[in-house]
Amino acid sequence: MYDLVVAGAGPAGIYAAKLCESKLKVLVIEEHEEIGMPMHCSGLVSKNLDRFVKADIKFIDHRVSGAVLHSAGGRKLKLKKHGTAAYVINRADFDRHMAKGLASELKLKTRVESVSFEKDRVLVETDKGMFEAKLLLAADGSNSAVGRALGAKPKEILNGLIGIVKKPDKSKNVEMWFNRNKTDGFFWKIPRGTSTEYGMMGSGAKFIQLENFFGLDDYEKMSHPIPLGPPKTFFSRCLLVGDAAAQVKPWSGGGVIYGLTCAEIAAKTILNAFRKNDFSEEFLRSYEDEWRKKIGKNIAMGMLFREFYKKMSNEQIERIFQMLKKRKTDFSFLDMDFPAEYLTKF
Ligand SMILES: Cc1cc2nc3c(=O)[nH]c(=O)nc-3n(C[C@H](O)[C@H](O)[C@H](O)COP(=O)(O)OP(=O)(O)OC[C@H]3O[C@@H](n4cnc5c(N)ncnc54)[C@H](O)[C@@H]3O)c2cc1C
Repeated sequence: MYDLVVAGAGPAGIYAAKLCESKLKVLVIEEHEEIGMPMHCSGLVSKNLDRFVKADIKFIDHRVSGAVLHSAGGRKLKLKKHGTAAYVINRADFDRHMAKGLASELKLKTRVESVSFEKDRVLVETDKGMFEAKLLLAADGSNSAVGRALGAKPKEILNGLIGIVKKPDKSKNVEMWFNRNKTDGFFWKIPRGTSTEYGMMGSGAKFIQLENFFGLDDYEKMSHPIPLGPPKTFFSRCLLVGDAAAQVKPWSGGGVIYGLTCAEIAAKTILNAFRKNDFSEEFLRSYEDEWRKKIGKNIAMGMLFREFYKKMSNEQIERIFQMLKKRKTDFSFLDMDFPAEYLTKF
């Protein structure tokens, strides 16, 4: 029997496994044959990434220092940082980099199908047989099989679409377009250095919308669900982390920094549970208390903002752009992962 089974070898699962493996017998189960593949993420992450892993050109495609926001009426709002605001990382290279030095047992091409719980263990059913553990960490992303088995559903699921065009783009700004007549999310363009990324997120977003908006024809497609609004994330002998727990920024769909932040808290809780030999739901509740203390206010504010945004018209968005431009609002101190502190003062 394993101490810990981690379902999913994305950044959240790999990071948590690494933090636990010197003290516990850990098995990581990944459905694909290669870590990081298939890729379906823009990889725009703030410099907060430095807290978890040293920036390395092995996985950084490009660096940006700001963003240009466009309204449907053609107004522009520029958000600038002093120096690098965010890295544009290649997610396949990043995930492989994160997995370097992993000492846990890793089973690739193995799909978690369901889970069941007994008094003293959790049974993880896969297409390659059953695995037993004292504790399960569900890091199996937005289509989490574990979440499904436990009835843990996010509040909302959006579609994230990416179109990569083989045209170098070394500009220093990410661009975003807000048009409520076309989507309840937004469109974006990310300079990736040797290529250009076009994307969109929204409920029921389709590639034809992306093609029409940017006039794309010859491009590489990627897509994946984006979960918003976390469900309950602690159960007897089981925790949910990362996209499986919808630990995602509701205003952008970004989840890498929140996933790593919560993986650290999950690992701490798991090691404590083994120290106390207590895997009860009551004991594991401290995980959710702690991650909500760290990112809960930002997610709650983001969900509220999203509810307003879904009801807004383009005219109302236009007025917000106009007001922010007039006030010459300085956003250079805004942390793209943790804006709540700044925005509540605003
Ligand atoms: C279009 C798009 C663009 C995005 N852009 C950004 C961005 O710019 N910045 C950002 O921070 N975030 C972005 N995100 C979100 C980001 O990709 C996720 O938040 C992040 O990958 C979550 O990490 P994770 O480890 O929780 O899950 P994942 O990275 O999804 O990893 C889950 C792993 O579990 C495996 N798995 C799934 N099901 C099973 C199963 N049943 N059995 C075994 N293994 C399984 C998967 O193969 C995968 O390896 C974007 C998402 C989309 C869809």
